[in-house]
Amino acid sequence: MASQLNAFSTNIQFSEYFFSLDGPTKHRYCEKVNEIGFDPYALKKSDFSEDFAMIPRVEYPDIVNYLVLQTSWATNQQMKAYKSMDAFNFFISGWVNVLQMKEVSEDKVVVFARVNHSQRARDTPLKAWILAEKNGIVLTGHCDCMAGLSEACSHIGAMLFACETGARMQNSGPSCEQKQGNKTHNRGTKQFFFNISKCEGKPAIFSLIEPYNELFVAQEEALPNPLTEQFFKEEYMKLGFESLLSKGKEITIDINKEQCLLIESSTREQSNSRIWYQQRAGRITASKLKSVCHTKFN
Ligand SMILES: [Zn+2]
Repeated sequence: MASQLNAFSTNIQFSEYFFSLDGPTKHRYCEKVNEIGFDPYALKKSDFSEDFAMIPRVEYPDIVNYLVLQTSWATNQQMKAYKSMDAFNFFISGWVNVLQMKEVSEDKVVVFARVNHSQRARDTPLKAWILAEKNGIVLTGHCDCMAGLSEACSHIGAMLFACETGARMQNSGPSCEQKQGNKTHNRGTKQFFFNISKCEGKPAIFSLIEPYNELFVAQEEALPNPLTEQFFKEEYMKLGFESLLSKGKEITIDINKEQCLLIESSTREQSNSRIWYQQRAGRITASKLKSVCHTKFN
């Protein structure tokens, strides 16, 4: 097992998440990543595409195939009453954030999404991904919730329902031949989406449609990268105070008003929030400001 892990890890950049796993779970995750050729958790937002046309053509039988036959996560009876499943309700409640796609090969694609917690809507969303054939056959999946380690959970299920809806919308769109004559139809659809965007609430279908999917960007993605990622380098540990000061002058910090407000609103729970830890590292927080102003270096 160990030798296989070593062989896999030579040219793939693994995520911190991977290193936090152990035993058979780590080995299985490694197998999945090896099949894909990259670790979806190690990618940045910019590595993915949000192009609607890249959503695999998942249909209802593909969902049954994956959740019932392949993973035994759900039963036929549950699927028969899928509208009462958590997975379906997570999707229609708008808890699946923007679907992000990355092509694996000519016929396969990885879909990644953040899915809000079932109970704790304000917690950092869970991260789920699936590997699917572009024609909709789901090959494997993963989620960083406890249940997701076994390839299927409500969050993966919710993503599958999101893909299924996306695929249905693609199928109901005009074909290439029809496109020319259907400009009016397209304008009508656009106007329809625009009109419902003015209503109160956040229709789940908007998580699939640009530009409305911006409403579904997980808070963590809209926040600036933690300062520790921008500042910290192993080599700086050996530098003296003066050298650190001059290094500091080379660094520029870009932060806009929206990000400031978002940091404030998403860290109100302080130590109960993971974002609070991430964003305070490297910052002079209000409670430290006085000491900073009064500290003498000499
Ligand atoms: Zn999950």
